[in-house]
Amino acid sequence: MHRVLLPFEFFEPTTIKEVVNLVDGDKVRVLAGGVDLVLKMRRREIVPEKVVSLQKVPGLDYVEGNGSAGLKFGALATLRQIEQSEVVMQNYALLREAISKIVSVQTKTMGTAIGNLCVATPASDIAPPLYAMGAKVKIMGADSEREIPIEEFFVDVGKTAIGPHEIVTEIVVPSLPSGSGSAFMKLSKTAEDIAKVNAAVLVTLADGKCEDARIAVGSVAPTPVRATKAEEAIKGQEMNEKSIKEASALAAEAATPISDVRSTAEYRKEMVRILVKDALQKAAERAQV
Ligand SMILES: Cc1cc2nc3c(=O)[nH]c(=O)nc-3n(C[C@H](O)[C@H](O)[C@H](O)COP(=O)(O)OP(=O)(O)OC[C@H]3O[C@@H](n4cnc5c(N)ncnc54)[C@H](O)[C@@H]3O)c2cc1C
Repeated sequence: MHRVLLPFEFFEPTTIKEVVNLVDGDKVRVLAGGVDLVLKMRRREIVPEKVVSLQKVPGLDYVEGNGSAGLKFGALATLRQIEQSEVVMQNYALLREAISKIVSVQTKTMGTAIGNLCVATPASDIAPPLYAMGAKVKIMGADSEREIPIEEFFVDVGKTAIGPHEIVTEIVVPSLPSGSGSAFMKLSKTAEDIAKVNAAVLVTLADGKCEDARIAVGSVAPTPVRATKAEEAIKGQEMNEKSIKEASALAAEAATPISDVRSTAEYRKEMVRILVKDALQKAAERAQV
């Protein structure tokens, strides 16, 4: 780690238009909370010629919505702000539970949720819940605006679908069906550490059966992944020990983990099974309340 950053030009525009006119791939980086960017600049893993701060652009720090309108948050909404927002506390327990597992309050107070996603680490704790809830990512360029499903946003480790002259402006989460229940599970070396494995489950029950299931796991592939075979297996079933056991075994098949300093691939795969089993159980219980 270097104490001194290499020289770079610093910009503080006051409009989104100016920001998108300045950004240029790896050469010109956007700064939101700076938690990840400054660390990587100190390590010289990222050496931008220019840094463009979002901090002086008004109106990007919103967290808005309600149970029927869905949820929206902007590029400067911090993890802490989202965790403590009324709309998330009332209607998006899955996202709140996931953010609560990020224990560093300093990180949550400075770090934005969109910054977390733009880093594109497969260990993001907020990505699996956003996958499970069907979130969309709004991306803006100088003359364009597009909205893509979050599953298309994550491309590879450290790589997103953001073009060299684009930024992310907003995350949009649809309203959740009535009768739904959710659970987020995280396994890490210490409470402060990033996930060895994480899992987000959202189920909707009707007439005692699982009408819909969305299961997403993290830290077990280059991007977060949906366990679609597991989802299909449990749909239409009563959520009992047998169906949950079968679905969680299928979820483990969706994982293609690596071994690294945090864990072995074998352990991670087995933990996907356990975490998804526990999360399905808990989500089913919560849906019945
Ligand atoms: C001690 C510590 C503990 C942590 N624990 C966890 C944890 O348990 N779980 C977890 O999921 N994460 C964890 N993190 C990661 C943390 O959540 C992220 O680093 C942080 O949220 C990044 O947000 P930021 O606003 O600081 O982004 P920045 O550092 O400002 O930006 C990060 C990257 O995204 C780009 N970027 C930012 N905003 C935009 C935008 N709007 N459009 C395009 N590109 C953009 C930047 O150019 C940069 O490349 C931890 C980090 C630390 C330092």
